[in-house]
Amino acid sequence: MKQSPQFAQINRECVACGCCEAVCPKDAVHIILGITAQVDKEKCVGCRKCAKECPADVITMVQRRAVV
Ligand code: SF4
Ligand code: SF4
Repeated sequence: MKQSPQFAQINRECVACGCCEAVCPKDAVHIILGITAQVDKEKCVGCRKCAKECPADVITMVQRRAVV
């Protein structure tokens, strides 16, 4: 399967509200230990739904080719 050019990345300001988890169509983001959201880069299709939904605005989209 071809990977999307981008994936979502969550920074440390995440407040673990779960909004991203609720909207992700690919089940690619989950709250870990009740403290932060974490993205499964392999599942993420870069749709940005989580980033639009995040009330704390802590999700950025990262280019895959920029990540070594
Ligand atoms: S960009 Fe889309 S697929 Fe990726 S974690 Fe966010 S909602 Fe899920
Ligand atoms: S929506 Fe934003 S603040 Fe809420 S859990 Fe997801 S990344 Fe964290």
